Amino acid sequence: MKVLKFGGTSVGSSKNINNVINILQNYAKTDAIVCVVSAVGGITDKLLLAGRQAKNKDNNYLETFELIKDIHFKLIKELNSDNHDSIVSYVEDKLNALKSLLDGIFLINELSPKTSDKLVSFGELLSSYIIAETMKNRDMSAARKNSQDLILTNSNFTKAEVNYGVTNTNIQAYFKEAKEQVTILPGFISKSRLGEQTTLGRGGSDFTAAIVAAALKVEQLEIWTDVSGMFTTNPKLVKQAYPIKKISYQEAMELSHFGAKVLYPPTVQPVLDLNIPIHIKNTMEPEAVGTIISNEEIPANGSVVKGISNIGNIALITLQGSGMVGIPGFSKRLFETLSQEKINVILITQASSEHSICLGIDESDTEIAKNAIDATFENEIQLHKIDPILVEKGLSIVALVGDNMKNHQGISGKMFSALGRNNINIRAIAQGASEKNISAVIAEKDVKKALNTLHEQFFESKTKQLNVFITGVGNVGEKLVEQIKQQRKYLKENLKINLRVAGLSNSRKMIFNEDGIDLSDWKVQLNNGESASLEGFFENTKALNLRNSIFVDVTANSDVANLYQHYLRQSIGVVACNKIACSSDFDNYKLLKRLSLKYNAPFLFETNVGAGLPIIDTLNNLVASGDKVTSIHAVLSGSLNFVFNNFNDNTKFYDVVKQAAAEGYTEPDPRIDLSGVDVARKILILARESGIEMNLEDIENKPFLSEAGLKSTSVDDFYKTLIADEAHYQALYASAKAKGCQLKYVAQFNEGKANVSLQEIPSDHPFYNLKGSDNIVMFYTNRYANQPMIIKGAGAGADVTASGLFADIIRIGNN
Ligand code: ADP
Ligand code: ASP
Ligand code: MG
Repeated sequence: MKVLKFGGTSVGSSKNINNVINILQNYAKTDAIVCVVSAVGGITDKLLLAGRQAKNKDNNYLETFELIKDIHFKLIKELNSDNHDSIVSYVEDKLNALKSLLDGIFLINELSPKTSDKLVSFGELLSSYIIAETMKNRDMSAARKNSQDLILTNSNFTKAEVNYGVTNTNIQAYFKEAKEQVTILPGFISKSRLGEQTTLGRGGSDFTAAIVAAALKVEQLEIWTDVSGMFTTNPKLVKQAYPIKKISYQEAMELSHFGAKVLYPPTVQPVLDLNIPIHIKNTMEPEAVGTIISNEEIPANGSVVKGISNIGNIALITLQGSGMVGIPGFSKRLFETLSQEKINVILITQASSEHSICLGIDESDTEIAKNAIDATFENEIQLHKIDPILVEKGLSIVALVGDNMKNHQGISGKMFSALGRNNINIRAIAQGASEKNISAVIAEKDVKKALNTLHEQFFESKTKQLNVFITGVGNVGEKLVEQIKQQRKYLKENLKINLRVAGLSNSRKMIFNEDGIDLSDWKVQLNNGESASLEGFFENTKALNLRNSIFVDVTANSDVANLYQHYLRQSIGVVACNKIACSSDFDNYKLLKRLSLKYNAPFLFETNVGAGLPIIDTLNNLVASGDKVTSIHAVLSGSLNFVFNNFNDNTKFYDVVKQAAAEGYTEPDPRIDLSGVDVARKILILARESGIEMNLEDIENKPFLSEAGLKSTSVDDFYKTLIADEAHYQALYASAKAKGCQLKYVAQFNEGKANVSLQEIPSDHPFYNLKGSDNIVMFYTNRYANQPMIIKGAGAGADVTASGLFADIIRIGNN
């Protein structure tokens, strides 16, 4: 004999019921089958809704009733094309009884637990009848037996306790005589000794099946549901979750107690002692292997953490006060009070000082719990020995479960640091003495992120997901998106980084996708996106609350730079090619660095100097390894290089600057480059990264522009001065040429001071042969005292800048 249970979704549509019947037909070829069924998916909830509506004098209960009726009639019709009259008449009778019950509730304005159990029983009674009759209509040997005649309980309505003695005898006696190949039993429902209808608790059909399996001592219990087994964590919340092949009874129990809804927690109890394995299978995918729950020894080399689960709607109650220290009896009185009120305590923590006890309970119990506890400790509260109890709501418990965790150090450390890195605040921690479970109480809003973070940490440790949010998809930003699109596969396979673009914005539009934007047509999507705003972009990024989030600033906008601190405070990393933040006021630069450390959010800006060249990274490594920078000599402006490499006595200064602008080598306002401000910002950043406190005003800037050029008030005016002052610029060129020198715009940092200026560079100097828009930096340090460390290469251009941003993102991924 075999016992199979099919849940609500499995019997939720005619298509699924046909699947169920096929499975049963197959099994029945070789064995007698007991099949426990739930109510049609969603019906229990609808019955309770109708009950509440009726109780609250809300006429909508009639509409809910009609919906329940329609769902069942539709099923009957779809399953039994002809010959459904007899089924309909029974179902009609039942529905009439249901309607009378609801009318009664409406009339007396009351819905007691006892009536509630009577109400929900209709769900399983109807589903089991319809399925059994459908099978009979198809000439199968089937019968429906009402479990209420078999399972006897006490009168603890809504979650009654089973009298196993009588129940086992009833079940054994019935099946001894049963002749049919398949017996359909309604799950969840039972009766008390007084004949009252009772239920076994929400999700209790699993339990019914286990009770029957144990009474009949079958070889295996099969729970058929809508997922392919017990997963490493809830597959609805974590896409990467996967089915666990084998798991122990204890682990399964622990996971289900902590929220893995796939198995109703008491289900394990009846089968555990008899060693009957539970096999979890998927009705929609019968060929999937599923999960076996048993006490089979599982090799220790398997994963240490078996699964992660969570329970929502948790409230934390804290009892604290100096009067509690060292005085016995407080916890006894506390727990007695809760027990009298039938309040289930889900989690307990007590600090070793005994100064406080913290309890996790279901949110719906808070009111009763608070009143009862305050009453119990009224005296102590009045004497200020104990504070009035503290209640926090909107919480959830996440729990790591694994039999083997006790033999491994550092699991909780890993758990809490992974959560901490992602800015998930932990309110309380509990670790059972058996060490099969470590639980943390966190805010409900963080649950999805926490489960994903922990799943990545313990089950996918080899891949790390990065979620980037890019603002500014102009020249450089567009290149960056294209590079990401092209490299995604490579990164996954070679660096185990799953790089996803979760947000994109230009100045007009923005788009988000928590599963990662499909980059094949990102431009079209962005064009159809919502209106962009900087605050909106931040708020959306924050609300998505994805792990390893990185904000990428590919603008030159100071308003964007002003938002970095908000991103960092949310533990969202910042990668910027925008130089404004790092060259702003020193206090602001320092603040961002501090926030980055405090919130564990990387702040990287390699492209601020020398585009994609690894200048800042190299400098950071020198400093981190204990070296000290003594001086820096550098040519850092791709645009000025371009200008002075192309300017001579055959060209006009105006034409060369115009060409540089046209090729994207200058800022939109070329004065920022030509006045030396851009280079000053770069050397400032290098000086600061070398450990020097310095501001932009401290940098000596000897301008080479003409008087009129310096004073121009608009870009147009400025260009006019270039034409008018051609002689001024030709003179600069002639002077250099006469000495056999090249003009280069040089930045220097020496003995704590920095300056930028146009210099005449002789032919034996490393700067002399700098081509095109190349940059060069020479670091003199204690270790590189005589021969500097030199970094040289393309220092401007969209492609190399994008690859520099890319490198910063990968740096974060590798950490
Ligand atoms: P049924 O109606 O078949 O009894 P349930 O809805 O009670 O099904 O349980 C199955 C659901 O449990 C899944 O659809 C899934 O959303 C949820 N679930 C939560 N945690 C887990 C987990 N660790 N493994 C599998 N499913 C889980
Ligand atoms: N129908 C009941 C419920 O929804 C029992 C079950 O499906 O297991 O809770
Ligand atoms: Mg269930």
